[in-house]
Amino acid sequence: MSFKLAIVGRPNVGKSTLFNRLVGKRLALVDDQPGVTRDLREGEARLGDLTFTVIDTAGLEEADPESLPGRMRALTERAVDMADACLFLLDARAGVTPQDEVFADILRRRNGRVILGVNKAEGAQGEAGVLEAWRLGLGEPIGLSAEHGEGMGDLYAALEPLVAEHA
Ligand code: GDP
Ligand code: MG
Repeated sequence: MSFKLAIVGRPNVGKSTLFNRLVGKRLALVDDQPGVTRDLREGEARLGDLTFTVIDTAGLEEADPESLPGRMRALTERAVDMADACLFLLDARAGVTPQDEVFADILRRRNGRVILGVNKAEGAQGEAGVLEAWRLGLGEPIGLSAEHGEGMGDLYAALEPLVAEHA
C-alpha cells in the first residue's frame, strides 16, 4: 500500500489546485467502495521521484454554509484517519483565520503527522502569511503556490522522509 497524504483545510485555500498539480491526469478509480464518497477524491501523486496517494477533501464547496462547520469536521476526521499524513493548507493572503484554528485543533487532537502548507504565497504579500502560520504550533510552515508551482522543492523535502519511512 502506498503512502497516503490527505490535503485538508477550509474551502478555497487551494486544496484541489494542489491536488491537480500533484496528480495531473492520474486519477485513481475510487468507484463504489462503501464509505468512500465523492467527497474524498483520490489520485496517484508524483513529486520528483516520489509517488504516493493523495486525497482531496472535496465536496464542501457546495455545502450549505449552515452545515459547513460540522461537515468540514466530519470529512476532515475521515480523511485524517485514512491517511498516513496530512497536508494542512492555509491561504497566505488571508492569514490564520478562525476556521483554520478549528482545523488545527482537529489535527492536534488526532495527533498524526502534519505538514503545514501556506498556499497562495507567491509574491511579496505571501511571506507575511507564511510567518504568521508559525503561531499554530504545527511546525515549520512551507510557503507554496499551487497555481504557479512554487515551493514544490520544500514540499518534497518535507514528504521524502515520510514516504521513505512508509516504503
Ligand atoms: P479548495 O476549495 O481548497 O479546493 O480551493 P481551490 O483549489 O478550488 O482554489 C480556490 C481558488 O484559489 C481558485 O480560484 C484557485 O485558482 C485559487 N488558487 C489556488 N492556488 C492558488 C495559488 O497558489 N495562488 C493564487 N493566487 N491563487 C490560487
Ligand atoms: Mg476543492
